[in-house]
Amino acid sequence: MRLETLLARAHEQTFDPRQIRLSEAGQCGRRQTLRALGYTPTPHTARELAIFDTGHWVEDKIAEEWESRYPGQVNRQIEVMSEFGTGHIEIYVEPLNHIVEVKTTTEKQIARLPLSSHVAQVTLHLHYWGQAWGSTAEIVYYVKETGQTLSFPVTYDPQRARELVVGLMEVKAAIELTGEPLPIPDDYQATSFPCAWYTLQGLMKCGFWAYCWGAQIATEPDKKDVVAVAPPLQADVQEYAQVRQQLQAVKTQEEILETRRDQLEAGFGCNLGSKASKRTNLNRKGDDVNE
Ligand code: SF4
Repeated sequence: MRLETLLARAHEQTFDPRQIRLSEAGQCGRRQTLRALGYTPTPHTARELAIFDTGHWVEDKIAEEWESRYPGQVNRQIEVMSEFGTGHIEIYVEPLNHIVEVKTTTEKQIARLPLSSHVAQVTLHLHYWGQAWGSTAEIVYYVKETGQTLSFPVTYDPQRARELVVGLMEVKAAIELTGEPLPIPDDYQATSFPCAWYTLQGLMKCGFWAYCWGAQIATEPDKKDVVAVAPPLQADVQEYAQVRQQLQAVKTQEEILETRRDQLEAGFGCNLGSKASKRTNLNRKGDDVNE
């Protein structure tokens, strides 16, 4: 397929870049804030566009299969509303009250399935939409090399849903209260997933990589058009930001104390070591006397 066609399709299906996406709730929060604050990602490569296109093709195929079993009762792209942003359920099989999320994968990734970010997405679809009337859900993976499909059921986990909602609150607070992107998560690295990863085609990077790891930071974007915080949440979100700051301060203090403790322990080690060797020498002398 021609690149222009892929670009046109991608454009048609693009969400509002300033919206928080439920589909990315289990992923990098900084990325959500960068996008919503108007930072521009690098344009998709032809390869990425082809991957999206394959994803849509597979989704159509899976939907057709369900449709052949339940004609006229298979719904597509159901909008899921939340206080943070919207998501879309790809396939909903009405007679079964069943949600289907379709993803593509490769043979190499099979051992890691289902990916936690995909489970997070479906968990939020259940939380905001399906759980109220007891929907079931699954993630179907299409293995690109073989055409095989693998299905993984997703059970609603309220604790996980709460964690994801807290993550969304944090994203929303950064966008609407501070107007600054969230920091890079502590355990992320410039050359590790999800910031960058190696493929057969070479090093791939997150579209916002330059804003996190690159030397060149683009001009600060216009931050006017941000969504308003739902008033009932505002106090909680502010408190949450404070708690996180306090925890960070405690963590930093802990690191400083640990470093000092290690230095002191190293000193004790030297002293004990030299005393021990003196004692050994003394013993030797004593031994000499006794001999
Ligand atoms: S480069 Fe890494 S830290 Fe930055 S937005 Fe992308 S995934 Fe997040």
